[in-house]
Amino acid sequence: MGKKVTVFGSFVVDLMGRSPHLPVPGETVKGSIFKMGPGGKGFNQGVAAHKAGADVTMVTKLGEDAFADVALNTMKDLGMDTKRIFRTGQTETGCALIMVDENTSQNEIVVILGACDTITDEEVESISDLLDDSEFLLTQLETNISSVEKVIDIAYEKGVKIILNTAPVQPVSDSILSKVDLITPNEVEAEILTGIPVDGEENAGRAADYFFEKGVKNVLITLGGKGVYLATSEKRGILPAYRVNAVDTTGAGDAFNGGLVAALAEGKDLWEAASFANALAAISVQRIGTTPAMPEREEIDSFIK
Ligand code: ADP
Repeated sequence: MGKKVTVFGSFVVDLMGRSPHLPVPGETVKGSIFKMGPGGKGFNQGVAAHKAGADVTMVTKLGEDAFADVALNTMKDLGMDTKRIFRTGQTETGCALIMVDENTSQNEIVVILGACDTITDEEVESISDLLDDSEFLLTQLETNISSVEKVIDIAYEKGVKIILNTAPVQPVSDSILSKVDLITPNEVEAEILTGIPVDGEENAGRAADYFFEKGVKNVLITLGGKGVYLATSEKRGILPAYRVNAVDTTGAGDAFNGGLVAALAEGKDLWEAASFANALAAISVQRIGTTPAMPEREEIDSFIK
């Protein structure tokens, strides 16, 4: 097992219903299928890294309600450490209300982040000892931004390598960017953050330069079915995705980021880690769902062979 990884981020319960069409305001539509399961970008990435074999500690915040048990039971079933999960009786556990049109696959989503949007500075300070032992911190922009800033500040002081997945996209301060070892936007996020449309290798390079000027050390832009654009101080270029028959790309970025940190924690270099993460994500997009779609390590190894 490699070095320790802290994944700091969101948890929400996904409540998904399919129906013959999406309701217009005021309309009630009889649906066909309902599914409930764990979600949230932070949680998905933590699970992906854990299933890929990393020594992961997940940090998130839950309410004191039945939805909290969805997170805790999933983590227990997977053998994940639940000691660093904060709880509050004041706010509900987050949830995402997802409606899917069964004919067109179009969806409408309302996400209520709830408890994981209320992580306090004191709570972040309380994981200081965990960060002392961690080689990597992987975080996103889905919990309250003050908590993301705080955890990055503490991790940076301790020399922990910080991976920032910029989803869901929102402005990121220069102070945060200057502390980031590796930033992992997708094409849309990279364009919103840099103002440069990432429509090819040349512009991906310009977007990478924008982040380098802000002090980010390495830039990895995910390009969906095209793979990733990776830029380090020594080398830059596109690493193509595996060619697979994708059936559900929801959570592809989460799968990728989980795989990336797991591989880096094993000592792989960024190029090798991105290739491993491409494989993990390629397996996940061939399956429906998010956390259940994340492959186990043996599956990734046999896919790569
Ligand atoms: P996000 O889900 O954040 O929008 P992307 O769509 O860029 O992220 O996908 C993340 C990664 O998932 C890609 O870099 C690639 O490795 C993998 N991936 C996504 N779509 C496909 C696909 N159709 N075929 C193979 N791999 C894919």
